[in-house]
Amino acid sequence: MSTGLIWFRNDLRTQDHEGIATATSNHDRVIAVYCFDPRHYEELDIGFRKTGKFRAKFLIETIHQLRNNLRKLHIPLLVFQNKPEVKIAELTKEHQTDTIYFQKEWTDEEKKVERNLKEAIPDVKFKDHYQQFFFHPDDIPYDSFNDIPKVFTEFRKKCEKKTEVRELLSNSKIEEFEFVNDTEIPSLEDLDFTEFKTDERSAFPFHGGEDEALKRVEQYFFEQRNLETYKETRNGLIGTDYSSKLSAWLANGSISPRQIYFKVKQYEKEIISNQSTYWLIFELIWRDFFKYISLKHGNEIFQLEGIRGKSHDWNDDHEAFRNWIDGNTKEDFVNANMLEIAHTGFMSNRGRQNVNSYLAKELKHDWRKGAAYFESLLIDYDVHSNWGNWMYNSGVGNDPRDRKFNIKSQADRYDPDNDYQDLWLK
Ligand SMILES: Cc1cc2nc3c(=O)[nH]c(=O)nc-3n(C[C@H](O)[C@H](O)[C@H](O)COP(=O)(O)OP(=O)(O)OC[C@H]3O[C@@H](n4cnc5c(N)ncnc54)[C@H](O)[C@@H]3O)c2cc1C
Repeated sequence: MSTGLIWFRNDLRTQDHEGIATATSNHDRVIAVYCFDPRHYEELDIGFRKTGKFRAKFLIETIHQLRNNLRKLHIPLLVFQNKPEVKIAELTKEHQTDTIYFQKEWTDEEKKVERNLKEAIPDVKFKDHYQQFFFHPDDIPYDSFNDIPKVFTEFRKKCEKKTEVRELLSNSKIEEFEFVNDTEIPSLEDLDFTEFKTDERSAFPFHGGEDEALKRVEQYFFEQRNLETYKETRNGLIGTDYSSKLSAWLANGSISPRQIYFKVKQYEKEIISNQSTYWLIFELIWRDFFKYISLKHGNEIFQLEGIRGKSHDWNDDHEAFRNWIDGNTKEDFVNANMLEIAHTGFMSNRGRQNVNSYLAKELKHDWRKGAAYFESLLIDYDVHSNWGNWMYNSGVGNDPRDRKFNIKSQADRYDPDNDYQDLWLK
């Protein structure tokens, strides 16, 4: 009897999951592991933790649902507060697992953990899958990631023309087997956070987990029919419905972009197909684009000069940075957005562009500190989208026009009656 082990990272779902589909067809027993890696919760030199309380809470909720849903597939999920390279190495020996299945990642920290694990258990097979993409890396019309163009439109047009979105995957059924799982999912306190209540002004009052992601799709698409006006509302600032709010579930893999794509297609067939329904797909391609950019450029996305290798005169003024975080700048629109993220772990796309532009182009402050702050606070933090967008808006990434936002005219245009600024500043 062979046992397979699925190591979960940012792929926290049971549907359209290549690791589960492959493991359940190769083995008659499958176990799964998730590690709350202590390194993800460390305090950074710049004064905040790598993962803050908002994402930690969402993640804990996600792991509870993952455990329930895996149980239905007869796969026990073991959960630890420890390093994966330590716990998984122990488990493979204890349960004689011959293969580990996991999502393929390529950023430095993730690769390091993977290398450590491989070194600890050299006899175990490792099988990784790209399962976070909209267009699968094996299907895109480029021979090498080096050929990915700098400009999004070029990438999008070519992929839309030449690449099919793959069908959703399904899992094989495995028999139930006896297994004592006495591991516990940590609480916020276990991770050294204190319990907190969601701010009632939050645009993201949702909970983590795969069922919640699917519920949100049903609600936003079919119940409220917000999808068909998405293109007109997506630059909004207040409330749950101006945009899909699917980013946090996408970021930790509670839902795949393909699942969303096929729901859009269903909507287009059954209800209406228009510019708005297409635009959600367009945005999912942006998400893919930043993943391909980081595949192409590796660690350059974390460098001050970015992927353009462009040097500017950057400041590193602690007080100015602190004022930006505290919502204490001369721009009320920036301040309102910074208060929103501090109180909720969420900020609209419009807000993110403006506060990024203000920090990098008005204050000329080392943009990486802003990106690190977002990394800590955002519920939907995704390494590629965060650092890719930060580079883009800081003039060191993929924006060919290197635009600087005029914050006052942005506020006049997107918050003409001051509703948003009043919500956070009054
Ligand atoms: C400085 C900055 C930092 C950002 N950091 C992140 C991050 O860490 N994680 C993250 O998921 N997004 C990030 N974004 C992109 C974008 O702001 C969020 O994806 C979006 O606001 C989430 O809300 P939504 O799900 O309602 O988006 P919708 O408007 O409903 O879009 C649907 C989906 O498309 C994708 N998407 C939309 N816009 C972008 C974009 N510009 N780049 C990449 N994907 C996009 C997201 O997956 C999103 O869920 C950042 C943008 C900026 C300007």
